[in-house]
Amino acid sequence: MAAEHERYDRQILLPFVGREGQRRIGASTVAIIGCGALGTSVADILARAGVGRLRLVDRDYVEWSNLQRQSLFEEEDAELCRPKADAAARKLRRINSSVSVEAAVRDVSARNVESCVEGADVIVDACDNFETRFLLNDAAVKLKTPLVYGACVGSIGMVFAILPGRTPCLRCAFGSPPPPGATPTCDTAGILGPAARAVAAFQAAETLKIITEKTDAIRRGIVQFDMWGADVRIGGIALPEAPSPDCPCCAMGRYEFLEGADVPRDAVLCGRGAVQVTPRGGASLDLDALVRRIRSSGISDVSSNEFLVRFAAPEGLEIVAFADGRAIVKGTRDADLARKIYSRYVGEPL
Ligand SMILES: [Zn+2]
Repeated sequence: MAAEHERYDRQILLPFVGREGQRRIGASTVAIIGCGALGTSVADILARAGVGRLRLVDRDYVEWSNLQRQSLFEEEDAELCRPKADAAARKLRRINSSVSVEAAVRDVSARNVESCVEGADVIVDACDNFETRFLLNDAAVKLKTPLVYGACVGSIGMVFAILPGRTPCLRCAFGSPPPPGATPTCDTAGILGPAARAVAAFQAAETLKIITEKTDAIRRGIVQFDMWGADVRIGGIALPEAPSPDCPCCAMGRYEFLEGADVPRDAVLCGRGAVQVTPRGGASLDLDALVRRIRSSGISDVSSNEFLVRFAAPEGLEIVAFADGRAIVKGTRDADLARKIYSRYVGEPL
């Protein structure tokens, strides 16, 4: 079809892409972990660029406060409480129907991270917490899959492309995750929409360089910029050319996060005033039965879709329970209270 033929004309014109680059883009698979401000913009750019397969992984659902910056979501997604991965996938299929888009509504853990990124040519780290970032780094180095890290807090953005075995990894650069609460998050510092878009643009560009095998063009070290301010300068943190000889991950092949005890933990969610409760047994939920149970307990404010059940508990908290057994308890940052509410309405989480 003529229109389809023209779709990538402007990209093919670029001397560093050309027809061969476009062919490689079309034949590639990219796993995007996290469908927030970064993940939705990266996915948008890559779907339009014609990446063959996109896998979106996210644990959360769309809320009104996401619409300020998360590009693929619309008011209807927030009204219907659609999981972010599903809402993003629906939109991407409308943007480019030739891209195969897979949506996974799940929390990335040591148990499932390798299956989340399996078969990907590039992993895009668009998540919002250090546990997941270090898990992704372990999986990327172990599977020798390039990883493109991105982070944005306030108006500051950071991007870091990792070519396992060839350039430093997250552990070479940062060692270990900072203790919880030691670094600002979008929960405490806010987030500037354009800064997140800029991070996503850098991440998507590094991804396209990797896919088209133009790795010489990849920016070494960590890109850093402050999007606010009169003089936006792209700076960076220099890193050695090669992985550190002392890195437990790159040099010694010890994947401490992958091999760590996979104890599901409750997590206070970035930017949400909410706690995620994860049942230790990994039990799945019968959503229809849960809806009936909630209604019969006298709660009338209940809604559901194929992925989740949302209801308002009389304690003044909103609960969203997913088919994989997790629940997000909104309106508190107290993990003990969230667990109590979970066992009161959803089931015994232990
Ligand atoms: Zn390393």
